Formats: sequence, C-alpha cells, structure tokens
Amino acid sequence: MTAVPSDLHPDPAEVLQRVFGYAAFRGPQAGIVAHVVAGGSALVLMPTGGGKSLCYQIPSLCRPGVGVVISPLIALMQDQVEGLRQTGVSAAALHSALEGGEAAAVWRQLESGALNLLYVSPERLLSPGFLDRLAALPLALFAIDEAHCVSQWGHDFRPEYLQLAVLAERFAGIPRIALTATADPRTRDEIRERLRLQDGRVFLASFDRPNIRYLLRDKEDARSQLLAFLADRRGEAGIVYARSRSRVERFAADLQAAGFDAVAYHAGLSSEARSEALLRFRNRSGVIVVATIAFGMGIDKPDVRFVAHVDLPKSLEAYYQETGRAGRDGLPAVAWMVHGSGDVPQLRRFIEDSEAGEAQKRIEHGKLDALIGYSEASGCRRRVLLRHFGEELEQDCGNCDGCLEPQQLSDCTVMAQKALSAVYRTGARFGAAHLVDVLLGADTARIRELGHASLSVHGIGGELDRGQWRALFRQLVARGFLTSDAERRGGLAFGDDALVRPLLRGETRLELRLPPPARERRRPSAGERSSARPLQELPADAQQRFEALRQWRLEQARSQGVPPYVVFHDRTLIEIASRQPNDEAELAGVAGVGQAKLERYGASLLAALRELGD
Ligand code: ADP
Ligand code: ZN
Repeated sequence: MTAVPSDLHPDPAEVLQRVFGYAAFRGPQAGIVAHVVAGGSALVLMPTGGGKSLCYQIPSLCRPGVGVVISPLIALMQDQVEGLRQTGVSAAALHSALEGGEAAAVWRQLESGALNLLYVSPERLLSPGFLDRLAALPLALFAIDEAHCVSQWGHDFRPEYLQLAVLAERFAGIPRIALTATADPRTRDEIRERLRLQDGRVFLASFDRPNIRYLLRDKEDARSQLLAFLADRRGEAGIVYARSRSRVERFAADLQAAGFDAVAYHAGLSSEARSEALLRFRNRSGVIVVATIAFGMGIDKPDVRFVAHVDLPKSLEAYYQETGRAGRDGLPAVAWMVHGSGDVPQLRRFIEDSEAGEAQKRIEHGKLDALIGYSEASGCRRRVLLRHFGEELEQDCGNCDGCLEPQQLSDCTVMAQKALSAVYRTGARFGAAHLVDVLLGADTARIRELGHASLSVHGIGGELDRGQWRALFRQLVARGFLTSDAERRGGLAFGDDALVRPLLRGETRLELRLPPPARERRRPSAGERSSARPLQELPADAQQRFEALRQWRLEQARSQGVPPYVVFHDRTLIEIASRQPNDEAELAGVAGVGQAKLERYGASLLAALRELGD
C-alpha cells in the first residue's frame, strides 16, 4: 500500500481528483478543507450523505502526520478503512475487536509513519498510555465523528465522548474537527462546549436532501399499502421502520411471504442475529431490513433506495434521521410513510407512561405536535420539514406528495357537522375508527353491544368512504375542532368551543383536503408512478450494462470480503454504463474513479465492458 507522501503538502483539489476521483468539492467542503489544512479547528454540521468524510480525510492527506479519527462504531470504522484502502490511502483502525497481534501491527505502522489515517474508538483513545504514545507522533488532526454522541439529550449518548475534551489541552496545537448530522441548536452548543470547540469555526451546510422524495399516505391498511408501494421496487435495498418488535416480526414475515429478501432487526434479537442481518444488508443487494429504531447509527450503506415508515416515528428529528438513511449516494430515493390518527394516542401514552419528569414530557409532547403538523401539512412537505430545522426554501420542492399530488380543497362543512354529531351522540368517548363505523352504518360487534345502530347518526355518512372519513377526522383534530388526549386513550372530544359552535350552527364553512375515493387510491399515485429511480433515465442497453457491472462488482467484492459499495458506488457504475469508456484515460474521467482504483480495476472493468459489447 502506498501512503501518500505527507511531506509534499499536496493541493486539496488535486488530492480530491487523484485519490477520490472527484472533480469538485461539494457545498462547504472546500472551505472546511482549506480551514483545517491551515490548522484551524471546526464544527461541521452537514446532513447524512453530505460528504463529511472528505472534510477530514483530505486534510489528513495534505498535512504532515497521521489524522486520528474518533468513531463510535466498529462497523463504521471498518467501512471507512476499507473504502480508503481501495483508494490507495493507508488507513487502519484500533478498537476492541482486534486481536492483540493486529493492534501491535497497527502501532508499528503508526510509528514508522506509514499511516495517513487512524480510526480509533473513544474507549481505546482514552485507555491508559494511549494518548502518551500518540503524543510522540506527528499528528495531522483529530476528527471527532458523530460528535452529537457527547449530547446527553440525544439517543446516541456515549459517556466516553465527554472525556474527549481532554484533546483540547493535551494537543493544543493540533486542529480538531467535530462532525455531525444533527442540526438542532441545542446539540450544536453542547458539542462546542463539551469538546471545547468554542474557538473553532462552525460550518453549517443546508440540511435539504433534494434527492429524497417525501411521500406520505393516509394509513388504511399499512400492510397492503406497503406491498403496493414495493410492488415495482423489487431488488432495491430499503429499510422499513415499525414501532414494536412484534410489528417488525409481522411485517418482515409478510414481506418474505411476498417474495422479498427481508430480514427483521430489533433489540430483542440476539446479537448474532443482529449482526447477521446487518451483514446481509451490507453485502447483498436488494435486502430490506424491517426494524425498530434500534437499527440506526452505523448504517452507512450508500445505496438504500427507500425508507418506509409503517408507524409514526417519535418526532420530526427522528423522522429526518431515519429517512436520511436513504440515498446517501445522492441518487434518487424515497421516504415513504403511512400515517393515521390511530398512531397518535399510543405515542401520547408512551410519553405519559415514561419515567421522564413533567418538563421532559412537555418537550416530548411538543415534538409529537411538530410531527403531526408535518404529516397534516398541505402543500410542500420539504418546506415544513426544513422550516422545523430553521431553514427556509425559496420555492416548493417539486419532489414530495404535496407538490406532485396537490389535493383540491373542497367544502366539507356538512361532513364535518356529521362527524361532530357522531362524536356528540356517542358520548365523546370513542376513537375515529369506531366513529367512522357508526357514520358508515356498519354492523360490528361493538356497535351492537353499545346499541349504536339506533343512533340518528348511524349510517348518515355514505358520501365518503372509510379512508376519506379518517382523513377528515384527522384534519378536524389537527385544526382543533376535536381533541384527543392521552387520558381518553384515543377517544375524541370537542375542541375549542369558539370553533365548534359556529360550525355546528352553520355559521362558518370549512374547506378541507380529502383523498380521492378508494377505487382511485389503489392505483399508483403520481408520486409513485413518476417515482424517482436511479435507472429511470437510462436507455435499456445502458441498464443492461449496469446490471452486468453490478455483477462484476459483486465478484470483486466477494473475492476481497468487502461490501460492494466500497469497490464502486452505484453512481460510478451508472456513469460507466452510460458513457461506455473505451480506455483507461476515459475511465479516469468518471466520478469516483481515482488513481488507485483505476490501477486495480481498470483493465478488468474495461474487459467486462468489451465483453458486453460483443
Ligand atoms: P456523510 O458522512 O456526510 O454521510 P459521506 O462522506 O459518506 O457523507 O459522503 C456521501 C457520498 O458523497 C459518498 O458517496 C462520497 O463519496 C460522495 N461525495 C462526497 N464528496 C463528494 C464530492 N465532492 N464529489 C462527489 N462525490 C462526493
Ligand atoms: Zn415539495
């Protein structure tokens, strides 16, 4: 392996091209790299897939000494190290999974100056004697990845991260760069304070993920809705998030029965079963992981094409993080979610039943409100999402259900009056599901038991179907005509009197957006039909070439025991499939083909392409 000679002080743009095969920096990367190369410290806030790694990898190659990267998860370190080795950069990792001899070998490399980058777990870094040993070496920088792990409020808190403040004193002259995809101001301030980065510059990138299409659906039957969504997505890698372990098991079984390569993942499984699932997801193509939120950090697979929520996540922050695992490679991806008012009371109950104090519970309820606001928003979803993180979009995004499938407002005054009457006549105790049954004149066991068939409101709602009524109830809740609080276990009651009375008296009109009738909903909607797919734009013969290149990549990856995406990203293979380079010079012009990969794979790749042409 050839370490890039560090005494040459190469130019960052030249390293970007030669080593990584990219023609230009993206977003704030250039500024960050220049700042750190010049010896400055920084806090970098950039979304998942934004390109954080290069912000410390390139300075490590441009400054003398080794770049030390602190990373919380072994899987993340291994992928990074493997990816770097593929580009010809000399990198290694020190963590608890190494055998004694392996660690000694890494130290020998370090002390002989052969390493450009060292990945280390915080436990290792802080173990006795480690920092002393490091201090004897020339160091390019410290990078603290997933820096939000210092925040006690986040769900990824790692106590050892707090001790990383020691780096500020012990290594005062060495630049430190902390990186995270968590954007909220509180976490940001905590990171700066706890890692003593007050003097470092803050680089804040846009948190928009333009390649992710947000599609929200009214929840009717999550299972068949999911299967319909996936019907023409066979072979794509994705994540399905469900609320509970039992739901995870059930959805995974449903997908398997429908012929998908699906695997369940939750905290109740043995650690072997979990790493087996993770390995399958990483190393095979087209695997769907059905998971609780236990499946999260450490997933840096770049070609996840969809993230589907069959239950509401906990908050808009969680939603953003979870959906953010789609499309890290920048190619089109979909964040799909079914949502219904049925989820909300249960989430409220979780909060109430938790051990948190009153103040914390209020925060949690507020977070849930923000999520409901997002899912009930009309118009562009992305605007609502980004506004929550303090960012204003100049125009509608054109890549969400609000933009692609605008729903017409219609006069719902009479229907809303009927819905409110149903609430009133049944004693303001029931949830939307039962109320809709009453309105539709259903003959359920519950209706018989309660005698609700004899109410005047029974069967007066034939003008809408079940899904439309449910959407109407949800909007009445979202607008304050009805309330649903935790104590009533999902039962709906009248909301603000000043709203309800005039509506019942017919003094105000109410316009709402209703979904189309069920018959039309079963057809793929505009958002799904035109659904962004990486290969969509490619002509058929290029698609065939891409498939063949994928097969070629799989063989390369298998023979080296690495995940396919460290060999080349889909993005690179797609470009090769459409440009059909004839020789190494042309191949070198493809994004993601640096010098080392050209030398290692060029001949074999060109041969594979030529074979296809024959
Ligand atoms: P993050 O750590 O912020 O989630 P990564 O560092 O993994 O993101 O980068 C995401 C993807 O973008 C990777 O495939 C990476 O190779 C690619 N990438 C990063 N910077 C550039 C660039 N300047 N030009 C082209 N691709 C880039
Ligand atoms: Zn939009």
